[in-house]
Formats: sequence, C-alpha cells, structure tokens
Amino acid sequence: MKIRIGLIGNQNSGKTTLFNQLTGSNQHVGNFPGVTVEGKTGFIKPGFFKGEEFSGLSIEAELVDLPGIYSLSPYTSEEIVTRDFLTAGHPDAVINILDATNIERNLYLTLQLMEMQIPMVVALNMMDEVRNAGNSIDVQALEKELGIDVVPISASKGEGVSELAQRAAVAATRRKKPGNLDFCEGPVHQAIHSIAHLIDDHAAAAGLPLRFAATKLVEGDKPVLDRLRLNENEQDILGHIVNEMESALDTDREAALADMRYAYIARITKDTVHRHSRTKEQIRSVKIDNILTHRIFAIPIFLGIMALIFYLTFGLVGAALSDWFSMGIDWITGAVDRALYAYGLNPLVHSLIINGIFAGVGSVLSFMPTILVLFFFLAILEDSGYMARVAFVMDTLLRHIGLSGKSFVPMLIGFGCSVPAIMASRTLSSRRDKKLTVFILPFMSCSAKLPVYALFTAAFFPENAAAVMIMLYIGGMIVAVLAALLLRNTIFRGKPVPFVLELPAYRLPSFASMALNIGEKARDFLTRAFTVICAASVVIWFLTTLDIRLNIVSSPENSMLASVGTFLSPVFKPLGFGDWRISTALITGLTAKEAVVSTLAVLMGTGTGVDLQSALTAFISPAAALSFMVFVLLYMPCVAALAVTRREIGRRNAAAAMLFQTGTAWVVAYVVYHIACAVGM
Ligand code: GDP
Ligand code: MG
Repeated sequence: MKIRIGLIGNQNSGKTTLFNQLTGSNQHVGNFPGVTVEGKTGFIKPGFFKGEEFSGLSIEAELVDLPGIYSLSPYTSEEIVTRDFLTAGHPDAVINILDATNIERNLYLTLQLMEMQIPMVVALNMMDEVRNAGNSIDVQALEKELGIDVVPISASKGEGVSELAQRAAVAATRRKKPGNLDFCEGPVHQAIHSIAHLIDDHAAAAGLPLRFAATKLVEGDKPVLDRLRLNENEQDILGHIVNEMESALDTDREAALADMRYAYIARITKDTVHRHSRTKEQIRSVKIDNILTHRIFAIPIFLGIMALIFYLTFGLVGAALSDWFSMGIDWITGAVDRALYAYGLNPLVHSLIINGIFAGVGSVLSFMPTILVLFFFLAILEDSGYMARVAFVMDTLLRHIGLSGKSFVPMLIGFGCSVPAIMASRTLSSRRDKKLTVFILPFMSCSAKLPVYALFTAAFFPENAAAVMIMLYIGGMIVAVLAALLLRNTIFRGKPVPFVLELPAYRLPSFASMALNIGEKARDFLTRAFTVICAASVVIWFLTTLDIRLNIVSSPENSMLASVGTFLSPVFKPLGFGDWRISTALITGLTAKEAVVSTLAVLMGTGTGVDLQSALTAFISPAAALSFMVFVLLYMPCVAALAVTRREIGRRNAAAAMLFQTGTAWVVAYVVYHIACAVGM
C-alpha cells in the first residue's frame, strides 16, 4: 500500500530533524531560518509499521519535507510551494509539527491546515524542553479541542517518533479528515459561512476545499479568487460581505482573520497548556541576547567573532593543515611523475597528466582544509542560533539603506555559494527587493573565491593573511551596501518590505549535524575539483600547448590562449595586471572561480616543479595582487550563478547585473590599485 505524507511546520520547529528520524536520511539541519528551500522526499522506515493495525499490510510511506512557513498566504515562495503540495500534490495525510515551547504561534498554521480537509496528525515537538522547564501540555484535551490526533515527541531524541509514524499511517489509510472546523465567531463567522454558500460549486469545480477557499476569500487571496472563476455578480456580493465584516469589526480583512484565529488559540491553550516558567533555553537565550544583540555592542562583537574565526582559519589551524595537505599532493605528483618517466609514456600525454590535470586539480585541492576549517566555524555560528541574531541586528541597518533585512539571509548563504543564495532570494516578497538582492549577492566572497585569496595572500602578504582576508570579506559587504544604495536611488526605487525574523533559542550545535554539514562541503568541493576544475585544466593545457594551426608550440607565448589573453590584457593594464596569463585566468574563472588558481598553476608550469607562489611574486607587484583579488571578489559570477540569475530575474536583468558587477569590479580595483601604489606597495 502506497501513501504520501507531507511534513509541514514553522521554521525551526524541527521538521528536518524529524524527517531524518523517520526516513533515516541525512538532510542538513540548521538552527537558522530558511535552510530548507525546496521540498525533499524520502521513505519512512518500514520498521515503524509493525503494530496490530498493520498486520497483513505492507506500507510504503513517502514523506515530503516542505519549507518552513507560518501561514498559508500566497506571499512567499515557501508558502506557495506548500499550498501547491496541499492542493495538487495528492497527499494522503499531513504531519503538522509544532514547536511545543512556542505552541500558540505554531497553532496558527495548524488552524489553516485543518481547513484543507486532509487527514492530519499534530506532532508536538521539543517536549523535552517543555518537560525540563517543569511545564506540561494536556495532550488529550488538546486532541479533543482540535479534533485531530496529537502526539508528543522529541525529534532530536527520537522519542515518540514511531508512535507518530503509526498514527500518521493510520490517519492516511482511514482517510479521517479533521473534524472540528468551526472555530470562528461573530462577524468573521458570518462572512466565512455566507461566502461558503456563495462559492460552494465553484470550489468543488476548482478542486479546492470549501472552507479553505472561503477563508482565503475573506482574507483577499488573489490566486484563490482567480482559481474560483466567480462571475461579476458573485464578486460584487463577495465584496459586500467583506465590507460588512470590516465595518462591523473596524479592522481590515486580514487582521480580522488573524484576530479570530489567535482568539481561538488563546481559548484552547488556556486550559491545555500549563506553563509555570519559560524553558531553560528561553531564559538562557534572553540573557545571551542582552549582550549579543546589544544596541551598540552587537556589531563590534560580530566583527570580533569574525576576526577571531579568520585568524584561526588563515593564521593558525587552516594554514598549517593546508601546508601539510599540499606537501602530500606534491609528493603524489612527484611519485606519479617518476612512474610515468619510468614507464616511458609519450611525453605529450605525460605533460597533459602532470602539467595539466595534476597541476590544476592539485592547486585547488590544496585549499580544501582551509575551506573546511572556515565552514566548520561558520557552521557553529549557524547551528547555535547566533547567525539569526546577526540577521536581526542587520535588519535595522539594512532598512536604513533601503534593503529588506530579509536580504541578509541570502547574503549569508552567499558566503557559501551564490547559486543557493540567489535561489534563496525568492523568499523576498517584493520583486524590487529580490532584484536588488540578486544584483548585489555576487559581491559576497563565495567559498570558490577563497582559494584565489588564499593563494595570493600567502604569496604576497604572508604576515597579514588574516587581515587581508577580513578586508576582502568585509570589503565585499561594503561594496554590496554601497551598490544597493546607488541602485535604490536610480533604477530600483521603492520601499523595502519590513520583515519579521524568527529568533530561535540558542542551542548547542550537535556534533552529528556539524559533521554532516562539513561532509557535504567536502564532497561538494571534491566534486568540483574533479569535474569542472579538471576539465578546465585539460582545456587550458591544450590551448597553451597548441597554436591556432594546432601545432605544438615551443613556448606558451605563441599558443592560442596567449593570443586571446594578449588581446584582452590592455583592459586590465590600468589595474596593474596586464599580463596575458592573468587575464586568461579571469576568463576561465567564469567556469568556477577556483579555476583562476588552477589556470595560473597550468600557465606558470607548476607541474614541472615551479613554485606557484614565487612565480607569482616575480610577475606582479603586491599592489597589483591586491587589485587582482578585489577584481576577483567583485566581477561577474560563474556560469552556474549566471544561469540561476537568469532564471530568477530574466535574461535582460541578468545581463544588466553582469555588466554592473564587472563594471564595479573594474572601478573598485582601479581605485584600490592606485591607493596601494600611492602608499608604496
Ligand atoms: P526545521 O527548520 O524545521 O527543519 O528545523 P530543524 O530540524 O533544522 O531543527 C531546528 C533546531 O531544533 C535544531 O537545532 C535541532 O537540533 C533542534 N531540535 C529539533 N528537534 C528537537 C527536539 O525535540 N528537542 C530539542 N531540544 N531540540 C530539537
Ligand atoms: Mg529544515
């Protein structure tokens, strides 16, 4: 028997943790809103379906992890994904997971889900924290009030999970719909019921649950209205009913429904939720927040923490690890080199392997430890709940410059990779905020730019590595902010939409979750090194070994690549790095930013024992190195990011963004170069 179950709940209610428990899979869990952007699916472990109810049944239950939402309105893409799943995805049941330490706010979504008339089970999560605080929830009374099954669980401890799986399967197979829907009163009640009569047949024709459709019309939900195809007459009546309600209550339509839901929630939780104190985690969070989100100290503390992380990553731990790692890589390269000589392989193929593949891939791989160390620290900040605070503090700052604070979440993701960051900008509710954010996101230092910085700082600024890194990271953010200011006052006029960010309680990061996070990063990095970077290195090797007539060249200056690079280099001359090798590296960097490093490695001939760092110092001045890093930081993103940019904001906007970014890069690098020269670098 096949069933399909949707997992729905607020952000940070523990959905992914529960998903992993139920399916045995390893999805990323984070104490940070917006971690799960697209729905993931898995199968509930069959071991859960062992009781009497299931004797003779073999159940195959697909579980869909949906994005975290607070409401079923049509404003954000998360809500739209979830609505589509509920109305068109044919779920047999829904597990609605609630954060029991915050039950009132979480029930707001529950009431809306009940209106969808899909068999449903409520999972009361984080019961361990509720118990530890000496609080309790009368589960049976709550079940009676809601008319649906309620199962207390602790997803992270695995308690109650199998009971939950069984109840969900039973709900799905018996097709028992939520019984109690009449939680409205007064004018709202009248409005909902009058509209329900009015649209009865339309809702059935559109395949929407009646009560859901009626409530959404009261709220003024445009997509639902469109789907119902009311005639003009009916729309008039609808308008009258809503006006009547608004004037009776003296509020607007959306507030009327929100008030009604919260009044109902207050009524049912009054007798079922027994709260003597806030949970330990909440009390602790308030204490910590008094310091970390302090009006004046918050930003200095954040900068201090970042400085410490960069110092540890680039000054202490990461650099040493990377050195050992590159010694290992050199040793392997040397061994393979000797083996190939001994074997007497064709010299050209030999060169392709050593000077192309090994030099290119090896140069990038050597930075893996540094990157993993950095992401290890960032994962601690994220999992503990600190990053959400930073976003909260940034909100005020960003609003001053006309950006929604919500833009900060994609910006943070942009420190990892622009691709998911650009996708995350979908959560911005206004088109203007979204375009603006996509324009400035590539100014963040994504992890692929890190090998470039690391190479150049190690070669040119070994004493001040951490300081240069911080400057680049913060510099990117400052340029992003200035660019936002500029764009807001020219092409993207308008007001940012305010945003309410959920502050999760501080939690100790779990080791498993961190390991998973780092493992994912490592896998991702290795995949890129052995696919994109490897392919780019091979292509570069061919282009430097052959000339336009496909003859083998005596020296790389006569190669095909040199002709192209030489053609472009005048553009970069004013920035201090007019050499053809360097301009070529910027072009291959468009396949993936790490390719800047692998290209330089191939072009400088590291395969033949040349040390890349000393080769570079012989080529350009420190001032030019600085300007080069700034250019790499700011110029247009790689093809993968360009592709999603186009998908999200359209071809013309994407082209504009590309020009804007590259233009900004040129101007800023120019300024940096001349300042650096002026101070004698
Ligand atoms: P999602 O955003 O809904 O997917 O939530 P996650 O699964 O990412 O969990 C959010 C945070 O809550 C993580 O830090 C989890 O470790 C934590 N968490 C999840 N379930 C429980 C639980 O039952 N008890 C406690 N104390 N913490 C939990
Ligand atoms: Mg999640």
